[in-house]
Amino acid sequence: MDIDLKRCPFCGGKAKMMSREERLVGETESGDKCVVTVFYARCNKCFSRGKPFRMKTNKYYDPKKKTGEAKAAESWNARVESAGEKQTNRT
Ligand SMILES: [Zn+2]
Repeated sequence: MDIDLKRCPFCGGKAKMMSREERLVGETESGDKCVVTVFYARCNKCFSRGKPFRMKTNKYYDPKKKTGEAKAAESWNARVESAGEKQTNRT
């Protein structure tokens, strides 16, 4: 599944999906690490960030499904849209 990110509402630059492990929250019964991963979209040009989306992940998190990425992309795209509306209203 491809994540479709709209262009940055501030500079029109290309956005990229980022993710990093934020903190270890424990282990499952079978001893697998469980971490909180934060996903966010970031503009490559002005580095403004979208609203981060956090979720607990472990080795069963399938990066191909991009569950967290999709959520973060949703809020990024929603902000781009609302920023566009404001601009239209102003003129
Ligand atoms: Zn930008």
